[in-house]
Amino acid sequence: MANVAERIAHVQGRIAAACGRGGRDPATVTLVAVTKTFPVSLIREAASLGLRHFGENRVQEARDKIPQCADLDVEWHLIGSLQSNKTNLALQLFDVIHSVHSRELAEQISARVQRRSQYADAVSVLLEVNVSRERSKHGFSPEELRHEALSIARLPGVTIRGLMTVAPVVSDVEEIRPVFRSLRHLLEELKPVFQAHPFRDLSMGMSQDFEVALEEGATLIRLGTALFGPRQLP
Ligand SMILES: *Cc1c(COP(=O)(O)O)cnc(C)c1O
Repeated sequence: MANVAERIAHVQGRIAAACGRGGRDPATVTLVAVTKTFPVSLIREAASLGLRHFGENRVQEARDKIPQCADLDVEWHLIGSLQSNKTNLALQLFDVIHSVHSRELAEQISARVQRRSQYADAVSVLLEVNVSRERSKHGFSPEELRHEALSIARLPGVTIRGLMTVAPVVSDVEEIRPVFRSLRHLLEELKPVFQAHPFRDLSMGMSQDFEVALEEGATLIRLGTALFGPRQLP
């Protein structure tokens, strides 16, 4: 496929088809364009073609790129793991943090939000769950999250929008379906605990598996390669 406009149109067609199979309204799905390693010029092009949500995985890289896009009417999503010494910077740069992987991090965000009046509003986050329990991955185990949920739900200054997961890399995407389904079940199970929050989002699905994720209820899909082609290694 030749250009970004064609890729976006193609991806939107695939999103619509997957939503159709899952009996879902495509308007309930937010496409987060993952621009890590790609230049600001590409972000600008994608924004000019109508994309409104962008994801970066490293605070350091985002610190260079996001200020150069200050004139764009877009939202920024942090999708990669957040080290505690970068919390302040992340709060300045991002609108949504998908990757809150521990109670300690949630507490730290809460403390920072309260301390700094410039974030008068609560910060929107998702809780990252390591559904497949891969050792290499960040995130709460489902048991850990059940255990910590109540204390996280009570933290001031943090709005919990839902759950996020990064699925394992597999050769057959059907193997991932149970992972996405478990995340949806966990969201349903925890809704009463997070009843004071807009706890309804599922951030799941990347280029290899977003169609399965949509069939299983994803509301935020994070796509890089499918929109922009292969990444250069940083
Ligand atoms: C890089 C990344 C993506 C996008 O990956 P693609 O396979 O290129 O779509 C999505 N989510 C996270 C957490 C990532 O780091």
